[in-house]
Amino acid sequence: MRKNIVAGNWKMNLDYEKGLSLFSEIVNMVKDEVVGDQEVVVCSPAIHLHSIAKLAEPVSNVAVGAQNIHQAESGAYTGEISGAQVKSTGANYVILGHSERRAYFGETNALLAQKVDSALANGLRPIFCIGETKDEREGGEVFDVIKTQLEKGLFHLSSEEFEKIVLAYEPVWAIGTGLTASPEQAQEVHAFIRDTVANHYTQKIAAETSILYGGSCNPANANELFSQNDIDGGLIGGASLKSRDFLEIVKVFNTK
Ligand code: PEP
Repeated sequence: MRKNIVAGNWKMNLDYEKGLSLFSEIVNMVKDEVVGDQEVVVCSPAIHLHSIAKLAEPVSNVAVGAQNIHQAESGAYTGEISGAQVKSTGANYVILGHSERRAYFGETNALLAQKVDSALANGLRPIFCIGETKDEREGGEVFDVIKTQLEKGLFHLSSEEFEKIVLAYEPVWAIGTGLTASPEQAQEVHAFIRDTVANHYTQKIAAETSILYGGSCNPANANELFSQNDIDGGLIGGASLKSRDFLEIVKVFNTK
């Protein structure tokens, strides 16, 4: 059975105290609302990781993740953070391939493949983001873009390695813009992603892969999005900075 996951991406927001206080609020609110196999993940800036991972420790189904790692194990890479360092904080996840990292930091599919390897080698589960830009959608290239991102970023993995991956479909034009893919648009791409995984690996692996939707997801639209067959939760940016909104999104799975 695949897991339903609601993951927050705080991006470069919140100082140390504010991050701890938001995380405490989130844990207190969501701990009784996480149903079944569902998992709630908060991906914070690196400064919060160790402290919030400690707060999450006693709460099953709440986990912590980073938003990036460097591909090397260690070394002279001033300002960077490695998978091993992130793991040592108590974090279990890392977002890789977010469109902001692809666009502003030049992260290519080839580089991301190396980061994925480093994450897995260090026991971190990648939340691997894929998605098309507005121009690519308008140019009819959605499926080609998604297929290439999967092939170049992930399909070098063995089946055992791929089973650790969480996928996030994040249409770039919907991130932080207030524009959301319609449930039908999102479902169409999620189904394509699952088929592509099934063709490369197996039906069973595809059926067990969690595929999250991200892009202006909020309490008003989460229910309809998460009701789609191939949408297993969300990667939430803006709404994850408000504990009540995040709680409402987590609670969508209570009614399913
Ligand atoms: C994101 O950054 O992954 C994201 C989905 O952001 P937002 O929810 O703010 O669109």
